[in-house]
Amino acid sequence: MIRLRNIVKAYGRVKALDNISLDIPLGKITVILGPSGSGKTTLLRIIAGLEKPDRGRIFIGNKDVTEQPPWERGVSMVFQTPSLFPHLTVEENIGFGLEAHGYNSDVIKDRVRWAMELLHIEHLSGKYPDQLSGGEKQRVALARALVLKPRILLLDEPLSNLDLALREELRVELKNLQRTLGITFIHVTHDQDEALELADYLVILYGGRVVEYGDPLTVYERPRNILTGIVFGHNIVDVCVSSDKVIFPWRLGDSVDAVCNSKAIIPQHRIDLVDGDECIVTDKLYRRNYGIVIVNCNGYLLKVAIDIDTLEKIVVGEHVGIDIDPKYVSIA
Ligand code: ADP
Ligand code: MG
Repeated sequence: MIRLRNIVKAYGRVKALDNISLDIPLGKITVILGPSGSGKTTLLRIIAGLEKPDRGRIFIGNKDVTEQPPWERGVSMVFQTPSLFPHLTVEENIGFGLEAHGYNSDVIKDRVRWAMELLHIEHLSGKYPDQLSGGEKQRVALARALVLKPRILLLDEPLSNLDLALREELRVELKNLQRTLGITFIHVTHDQDEALELADYLVILYGGRVVEYGDPLTVYERPRNILTGIVFGHNIVDVCVSSDKVIFPWRLGDSVDAVCNSKAIIPQHRIDLVDGDECIVTDKLYRRNYGIVIVNCNGYLLKVAIDIDTLEKIVVGEHVGIDIDPKYVSIA
């Protein structure tokens, strides 16, 4: 385990990290998902030792590394924008860290070749950074981090600057890399799809706090915290409770004794459109692999994810019923 205990980091009046305690399993991919400004980079830099926390301790295995410098922690970091040395070739860039550590040239050659093969960039070895595409640069940056054989690889939104197709391709490769090497990946992103695809273990960071963590599908499908619902774009609606029964406010009818002070989180794909006249379709949106229908149910707007074929048939202004699977209604 990597254990963070009560980590606090402030920049002036901004609390970038507000009392973070977290156990990160070794040998797996932990994804930290949070919006911009939620403290993701600060958290990675503190784990790397590039930044000192104001308070709190960091343990790797049983060792307290809080006072250790970065190079003693067995940690490498990859950044959103790869900063390669422009006057060095790909091969020299990758070998630079090993040279600085004083390895002999045969070892360096072997290790650099190993890292280039791992990232499928052998053919780029003699090129200079300005001759590389964004994706190639990021592969070089990954090779440069892995060549040091870290125990822990910290990835700070390494795919964010790449276009979509390349991003999806590299996601698969990152996961394969982790499976091949078996080392610990801590991957930071604001991209929900990327998080769900990569994570063995998912952490939701919001406003410098850990709001939820655990198995990614559980966190996604059954969030316990409104902020998790916000991060995933789930429906968040008021609900009423009457003699222990949950009632949606547009279905209240004559349940006048109901108390409506709870919130429910409902994923968009856990609502079905059915025959009925409970709601009116107010808009339909095409996404890449699915559609979103926005329905107005007695003044309450809900987003419903449906397949593209069904979306084609929906007419804005028509009446529909909705069916909500109670298993996926989380009361927060
Ligand atoms: P994220 O990576 O999730 O976007 P950051 O960790 O970069 O978030 O930043 C968290 C908060 O701390 C933000 O409000 C940011 O403006 C602030 N912050 C981060 N680094 C610094 C710094 N060096 N000086 C001042 N404020 C900072
Ligand atoms: Mg950041």
